[in-house]
Amino acid sequence: MTTISNYKCLVCDNPMDKNETTCPVCGNEGRKIITLINEGVQVLDMCAGGMKSPRYSGKHKFAFEFLSGKNLFIKENRYVDKARTIDRIEDLYVEKVTDPLNGEQLHYKNEPLSKHQKSSTRKKKH
Ligand SMILES: [Zn+2]
Repeated sequence: MTTISNYKCLVCDNPMDKNETTCPVCGNEGRKIITLINEGVQVLDMCAGGMKSPRYSGKHKFAFEFLSGKNLFIKENRYVDKARTIDRIEDLYVEKVTDPLNGEQLHYKNEPLSKHQKSSTRKKKH
């Protein structure tokens, strides 16, 4: 995980040094801190399956798909349980990440599949 912090003037967006409290351009004392966190999730030991439906005929193989397994959660450098369900009939995309140690839900996504596919057209390389 990489964390990058940027300091900018609250008024004119001038980039500021970490130690600067007054903007050298406009003299304002307000500044904002922009922190970028770069985290990735690597897929490991996944099992996946699908179900064909006579009600469904499209370019995709399955009307219903599931995927679950252990993922390396790079942010905390340990494994988590990940489960994903894609339902093309109900137009559903559900993603759930659980902590195997205490069963705590770390991530949960439930949205229309059509919306999800629009927002993730770029494929990541693992
Ligand atoms: Zn300024």
